Amino acid sequence: MNRYFSFGPERKKGFSLIELFMVLLITAVLAGAVLLNMGIGTNAARAKKCAALRKQIEMAEQFYMFEHDSLPADFQSLVDAGYLERMPECPSGGELFWMAESDDAAFKRVGCTVHLPGNAVEPEEPEQSALFDTPLSDPSILGDMIFVSGSESNWTVTEDGLLVDPDSHHDQVLFRGTEGTDYRITLEATLLSGQGPYGYGIVYRGTIDENGRLDAYRFQFDPGAGKKFLFKLVTGTYSEPTIASVNMPKDFDVNAPHTVTVEVSGNTHTAYVDGVEVLSVTDDTYESGMVGLRKWDVSNPEAEVLFEDLVVETLP
Ligand SMILES: [Zn+2]
Repeated sequence: MNRYFSFGPERKKGFSLIELFMVLLITAVLAGAVLLNMGIGTNAARAKKCAALRKQIEMAEQFYMFEHDSLPADFQSLVDAGYLERMPECPSGGELFWMAESDDAAFKRVGCTVHLPGNAVEPEEPEQSALFDTPLSDPSILGDMIFVSGSESNWTVTEDGLLVDPDSHHDQVLFRGTEGTDYRITLEATLLSGQGPYGYGIVYRGTIDENGRLDAYRFQFDPGAGKKFLFKLVTGTYSEPTIASVNMPKDFDVNAPHTVTVEVSGNTHTAYVDGVEVLSVTDDTYESGMVGLRKWDVSNPEAEVLFEDLVVETLP
């Protein structure tokens, strides 16, 4: 409730509190002004003036808190909201900051690098933003798909995720909005069936030319190539030299649901399967591009893959 415009006893209480703050504020301003007018240029006077300033800011904070029910984001918001006439400046050129040790709900104590040093409030880590996090069970996903030349087959959205048409040999797609350089790609997928050389993969740093040809990296979940995990270099869609490979662990169940993660930062590419690092390689052929998926079955187009979830997060 906005206390300024409420009626009854609450309104009275609100005003009396504000009045109290006003008195304290004016007192602080006067104290500062008196010191200033006395013109005492000593270090001690400057320290006192700085202390008065800091007190003034702390009171303005409480004022702000009283009206907004939250602490101000910075000193400038105190000025903007009219609680401070101007940005406060330490007379000795110290920098004013919020002290970490007083970071409680009531108000934040103000420190000064010259007169009251201490630990500053750590700026909050910006939340990790996902570049792409559309559920693959959302039909709108079809609108985000960019097909690589020759692989415009049917991808069906089911309530479990994206199901790839089992009647085609080679399906490859990129997703709009995944353009990036350094990112972590996490895929949940299940290889439901397949024969011969088959499997699925994560395409990344992919670009498509005007003819729909793809340049990209690809991490492959490749039971068809002797049960291997592979990093490949895709050039013009088809030339696919392997740049690193490792055998799948013995007894690895290729048809179980798996979490496949690729992290690429600079020229370092690392793959994880079910949270365990399986393969790492350095290569700097492609710098940036989109993320996508691939499913293939060379000799018998029966491989059916369910892509359940794909998340792309930007790495710092
Ligand atoms: Zn100071």
